[in-house]
Amino acid sequence: MPKLQQITILGATGTIGASTLNVISQHPNRFATYALTANNNDAALYKLCIEYKPVYAVLLDEAAAERLRLQLKAVGSSTEVMCGMSALEYVSSHPEVDAVMAAIVGAAGLIPAIAAAKAGKRILLANKETLVMAGNLFMQAVKQGGATLLPIDSEHNAIFQVMPARVDGSLIDSGIKKILLTASGGPFRKFSQSELEEVSLEQALNHPNWVMGPKITIDSATLMNKGLEVIEARWLFNAKPSEIEVVVHPQSVIHSMVEYVDGSVLAQLGNPDMRTPIAYALGYPERLQSGVGSLDLFKIGQLDFEAPDTNKFPCLRLAYEALKLGGNAAAILNAANEIAVEAFIQKTIKFTDIPRLIEFVLNKSIIKEVSDLNMLIDTDAAARDSAREWLSRA
Ligand code: NAD
Ligand code: MG
Repeated sequence: MPKLQQITILGATGTIGASTLNVISQHPNRFATYALTANNNDAALYKLCIEYKPVYAVLLDEAAAERLRLQLKAVGSSTEVMCGMSALEYVSSHPEVDAVMAAIVGAAGLIPAIAAAKAGKRILLANKETLVMAGNLFMQAVKQGGATLLPIDSEHNAIFQVMPARVDGSLIDSGIKKILLTASGGPFRKFSQSELEEVSLEQALNHPNWVMGPKITIDSATLMNKGLEVIEARWLFNAKPSEIEVVVHPQSVIHSMVEYVDGSVLAQLGNPDMRTPIAYALGYPERLQSGVGSLDLFKIGQLDFEAPDTNKFPCLRLAYEALKLGGNAAAILNAANEIAVEAFIQKTIKFTDIPRLIEFVLNKSIIKEVSDLNMLIDTDAAARDSAREWLSRA
């Protein structure tokens, strides 16, 4: 019987958090929840604390933490409630923790992910924004801390599964010609430009294949999600931008592919359910039951492929541009996108304004080399200011 693994779940109340808890509950002799964290939803975190009895519960919001503390005390729970970013770092780096599921959405996930990397944890990385903002710094922290980094994003998890066991140096040195990153194309794949101008929030929140949090669902509709994933792949697999090709595959059955120099293309297939990559990373290198059903190829019938349309979906083009610019450009892209998506969710801008706002911020910013984390935090704040400036004039 393997040793009981203590798991911290950052973003436990989100969709990735829920899928992680679902897989963990299927293996009570292998995994225990050490800490569960959320932003400000104390009611949702309270339910999880009662069910999973973590040692620590962390909320970012102070008032929410106080409410949770009182509620847990009233029922005699032994879970200790903490609050704030330093508490997130604490539960990500604690010596008793074996693995950290990094599933906070957005830039807020960066600092605890870096803490887990420096502490040499097994990191299950769902928070792609960490690699988009701070790819170089984060990969260095993983190396220096001796951490094990396992991608949760379904595409990157698929690529990881079909890559050779050890890849040092460039992809070509391992016999890899390119990474074929699949994309569903989102709900508006067949929309004309004029139809895109009129897209509503409700339509954009309705993803054809995956159930996800609101931010990544909107990112999937604009194709910014794929753009962020291109940058994520660049860092995870030490790939050049020219070695990453996006392939639109509407069925979301192939989760990505790797092409080798001999002409072989290896793919990972499965039902679109995040419990597969989560179980893979929790058990790695062993395979665990995840609760995901068998892939019914007869029911699926056919698999389609097409090239992405970057004229209709400029976010993908902007992400490639940020990647080529290098330095802090991807952090600027990420910050501008977070503000744009928030504004679209608040219904203050149109769907097609999202790339317009991002392009404005990218053009206005000065691209610099990333020296350290503080410089990135300043970049993030300045890009958010420029984005708000665009909003105030829109
Ligand atoms: P979600 O919106 O469902 O959940 C987000 C979680 O983060 C919640 O627990 C929330 O409380 C917490 N959170 C939000 N803002 C925070 C803040 N400022 N500080 C601390 N905690 C905060 O999101 P999700 O769909 O679970 O996605 C989480 C991450 O995983 C994202 O980076 C997303 O891109 C990535 N991801 C998700 C999926 C998916 O299928 N949902 C797939 C691939 C990658
Ligand atoms: Mg993905």
